[in-house]
Amino acid sequence: MTSFAELKLAEPLQKALAEEGYTTPTPIQAGSIPYLLEGRDLLGLAQTGTGKTAAFALPILDYLLRHRRPATPKSVRVLVLAPTRELASQIDESFAAYARHMKLTHAVVFGGVGQGRQVEATRRGVDVLVAAPGRLLDLVGQGHIDLSALEVLVLDEADRMLDMGFVRDIRRIMALLPARRQTVLFSATMPQSISDLAHSLLKDPATVQVTPESSTVDRIRQAVMFVETDKKKDATLMLVESSNVVRAVVFTLMKHEANKVAEFLNKNGITSEALHGNKSQGARERAMAGFRNGTIKVLVATDIAARGIDVDDVSHVFNYDLPNVPESYVHRIGRTARAGRDGWAVSLCDAEQRAWLRDIEKKIDKAIPVVTDHPYHSDAAQNSTMRPPVLGGGRGGGGQRGGGGNGGGRRRSGPPAGGRSGDGARRGGGGGRPTGRR
Ligand code: AMP
Repeated sequence: MTSFAELKLAEPLQKALAEEGYTTPTPIQAGSIPYLLEGRDLLGLAQTGTGKTAAFALPILDYLLRHRRPATPKSVRVLVLAPTRELASQIDESFAAYARHMKLTHAVVFGGVGQGRQVEATRRGVDVLVAAPGRLLDLVGQGHIDLSALEVLVLDEADRMLDMGFVRDIRRIMALLPARRQTVLFSATMPQSISDLAHSLLKDPATVQVTPESSTVDRIRQAVMFVETDKKKDATLMLVESSNVVRAVVFTLMKHEANKVAEFLNKNGITSEALHGNKSQGARERAMAGFRNGTIKVLVATDIAARGIDVDDVSHVFNYDLPNVPESYVHRIGRTARAGRDGWAVSLCDAEQRAWLRDIEKKIDKAIPVVTDHPYHSDAAQNSTMRPPVLGGGRGGGGQRGGGGNGGGRRRSGPPAGGRSGDGARRGGGGGRPTGRR
């Protein structure tokens, strides 16, 4: 197995990696770092959780160590574009962590907060700027940032940037960059739009692909419950209370729904915060910090806001709504079962979302086991024939593997997530659930 020493990364980086507790490069790192050290352009196909940030950050820092240059005002040597503020902040933090034994100037810019500090942070020029596209263009337009001497460009989560409608911004940014540069594009998926973008931005790129999405999915125990919309809050509470949750992310499609679900969980004694685009940066950071340190058990998030949530110990993902884009399902459930742990992904599917479920199953190439024996089961699913999994603890013990069998027909039966609560009456009571909180 390759080691970081074999990758010939500079000594200050090796030291920082040892302190971070990284012993061996992940596959995306082992695959990408040699090409990037050679100065090649790269197309990396990898999801969050694979170690992709270090895969580009380490060779970039190595390059900066080998090519020191005095900063010129407002200039940027390395630009990393990211779709969300959360991801941008995390990337910036990763650079800072890996560069702790070298001199590095770095800054992060994104919208939704005042620009004063960001202008100040980039005034003298920086080695590494991590940026969300919109705010970057604002600052360039106002003359605060100069990209004309850029040496390395990284587009991270490029598929997400396109999904979020950043393609024009990206093109405008490209027009500001020198033609001679190293360009790196990371994407979790490879739709036609990404291959077109890669084709137009990258020169003779090396391609490195790791962990096809389906194999990530294999490590996650999945289940679906057919529940009508008006029962989803209760069903979610039942799931959270009965599943030995360490940390859970609940996904909703709409921001207002995220607020409502978080409020409902809090009222019922589950510490919870909503995370979505309407929240201030401060509120998001507080929510993430609380989620990390365990004071917040459940984060209720929309897809875009949850992008880049990088917390290893998420034991459960609950889809309050199924996403209408199958790739989003894969992204969502990838918040759990990280760093070698097990994880559960349980989805609530109402009648309208049945078609989306079929698309998702096609995408992951397996039928998701259906749990029918629970108090909120909708009649619409009575013809289901799949055996449900037993939803046990968050990690390791309890619960059988669901979703194991490709191609198995749907069978029915088995205890639901919450055991048989009988009356389905929810609020405030233990309701006879065998693994309830109280
Ligand atoms: P990423 O895919 O960049 O979001 O990284 C996922 C997580 O893996 C982060 O928490 C990293 O700190 C961690 N990580 C990255 N590379 C390694 C490594 N070689 N060994 C152990 N952990 C790593």
